[in-house]
Amino acid sequence: MMMSPAPGPAPARSALAEAIVAFRLPDELIRKHIHEIHQGVLAHSRYIREANFTSIHRGDLEFLFGAYDERFFTGLCLRALEGRRIRFRLATRMTNAGGKTTRFLSRTGDVSYEIAIACNLLFDGFGDRDRSIRVCGLDCNDRLEALQRIFEHELVHLVEQLCWETSNCAAARFQDIAARHFLHRAHTHNLVTRRERAADSGIRLGSRVTFVFEGQRLTGRVNRITKRATVLVQDGEGQQYSNGLRYRAYYVPIGLLEPVAEDASDRGPTSS
Ligand SMILES: [Zn+2]
Repeated sequence: MMMSPAPGPAPARSALAEAIVAFRLPDELIRKHIHEIHQGVLAHSRYIREANFTSIHRGDLEFLFGAYDERFFTGLCLRALEGRRIRFRLATRMTNAGGKTTRFLSRTGDVSYEIAIACNLLFDGFGDRDRSIRVCGLDCNDRLEALQRIFEHELVHLVEQLCWETSNCAAARFQDIAARHFLHRAHTHNLVTRRERAADSGIRLGSRVTFVFEGQRLTGRVNRITKRATVLVQDGEGQQYSNGLRYRAYYVPIGLLEPVAEDASDRGPTSS
């Protein structure tokens, strides 16, 4: 009886792995490709109309995927997916990570992938008076450059997943691929987070703040900062906290809060 050899990795995936290992391009040419993609987005997107764009669509991430795959992986990324689904998502609630690549395994054994980009972090930076932004160790002049750096980083996660089924951006293999393909020097970013934005405006955890809610001016203390701030306002009908007082929680966009002078007699609650 004839035995067939154990199945190796699918041909498209090994072709992608070989191409990645062999990839060498002069820095100048890499920068040129990346700039062409930057220009391509501006020329084709119905949403990204300027480098410091104010709107973005999931389709823009699909466009980036196609453009990077073509220029850096000769289309092998799409082929290595072998019909498995890849979804692109604009995340609005990521508080620290610039993006996230996930491999899903369904109960029926189907594998799919998702690349999510933290657009809240992109939109929070690049104001006129903002500090400079570095993503993946590279200075970003505008929001689109930061988006590209994050996307490149996530793309390396994806190709590692496709070729080796594991991916770790703190590990040497990832950093070597990211450096050779995209000139990345780090796997971190210093995008402006809500926490920093809030601290800049004088609002931090524990700050006394005032805001208007349904026509009424309320004063309370910041208890939590995510996309919005959680402000605890003393309220006889509210929930009882550790200091014995009752508070009601309000979720307020940080931009609507004004800091107010400390009142020494009110130390505020700790968490419930
Ligand atoms: Zn990573």
